[in-house]
Amino acid sequence: MHMIDNALLTATLSRAAFLLVFLTVVLSQPKERYLWHWLAALVGSSLGAALMMRFPANGEPAMAVSLATYFLFMISLAGSWSGMRLFYHRRIDRRLLGALLLLPLLTFALLDLCHVALHYRRLVITAACVIPAALTVFEIVRPASERLFSSIVVALAFAAYTVVLAGTSAALLLDLAPATLEGLNYPSFAVDRVASILVYFGYIAMAGERANRALRQQAETDQLTGLANRHGAQRALSRLETARTADPESPRAGVLLADIDHFKRINDTHGHEVGDSVIVAVAARLRGTVRNGDVVVRWGGEEFLILLPGADSAAARAIAERLRDAMIRTPVHAAGHDIPVTLSIGIAEAAPEGETLSATIVSADRALYRAKRQGRDRICVDDAEQGDSATMIRPLS
Ligand code: GH3
Ligand code: MG
Ligand code: MG
Repeated sequence: MHMIDNALLTATLSRAAFLLVFLTVVLSQPKERYLWHWLAALVGSSLGAALMMRFPANGEPAMAVSLATYFLFMISLAGSWSGMRLFYHRRIDRRLLGALLLLPLLTFALLDLCHVALHYRRLVITAACVIPAALTVFEIVRPASERLFSSIVVALAFAAYTVVLAGTSAALLLDLAPATLEGLNYPSFAVDRVASILVYFGYIAMAGERANRALRQQAETDQLTGLANRHGAQRALSRLETARTADPESPRAGVLLADIDHFKRINDTHGHEVGDSVIVAVAARLRGTVRNGDVVVRWGGEEFLILLPGADSAAARAIAERLRDAMIRTPVHAAGHDIPVTLSIGIAEAAPEGETLSATIVSADRALYRAKRQGRDRICVDDAEQGDSATMIRPLS
């Protein structure tokens, strides 16, 4: 068997094996549209490689075989690009996708009708392949809200494709290319063997990394309010704690624990569902009242933890007052009722080189308990310097 046949046969068989593995990934997440595009890309390149085995080493295959092969390779590259856009939640321009797929083939056919040499027709196809390969790299490296380690592998592979395809196009343009298909394609096959492995394992890794992140996000988010739950708060807490211990001059952090007063009565009077709406409304009001870098957590049923990085106790007090005022000024509207809601808030401050954040939360809890005991709808600060006392700083209004 010819050397190039061997290379193509192995490439085709290994792609078929990837295809099988990839199919299981697609079927396990059938709603992820990008996976279907990547599957089309994988099928396109497998069939394209199979058809290319039928190309004579010297000379030209039948026009239909040429067009079908190039079409499959175009599907492979354009599908990689469109799948990558979908992966990053970007829209696909169908006209551009159609043009990427069909224009090179039409040009190829047209040049054939005009008896332009095979050499130049191959130049058109090869140069056209550079565009989706480069666009795929671009989709990965351009700024995105999410950075995945696995996408680096895919970007490297498509960068290699881009370089090889652009190099081959330049060689064809300058007439430097070897006359035979084997001479022309041999370096590309070597790159393709490595790059295709990177691409397809990279795709599987990207889908896996995305799914893992989504699961972790879900585990760390409170489903009712969308705030971080207690588990999710641990990450913010350890990040803050690391920043504080790494730098002795580190800023303080204010810690608030806010609890809805007599929430059981709301449930008992209006029902559990209205109670849920009240929790959602309070969460939104808290989130909307603090700054972006502050962390709001649903700490328990109707209890919220608010971390205020950089806030000393005076700043934390001011924010607590704002939160309390935001609640008493406007009742929560739920299921046709205007429900007055008040908060009791405990404040503690994690001073530089002071106690840990976890210990500070315990202090804030002590202050909250004091606020409840003193009559609710008030703010108390835990003041360690005054012994075990928590000082009430806001009388019932
Ligand atoms: P206090 O002023 O002392 O905080 O009184 P309270 O009634 O707010 O506090 P208590 O701890 O006695 O009751 C809290 C109630 O919150 C009990 C629980 O059934 C209810 N609860 C906890 N989580 C949820 C939830 O997700 N939805 C609803 N509707 N109720 C919840
Ligand atoms: Mg309560
Ligand atoms: Mg409570």
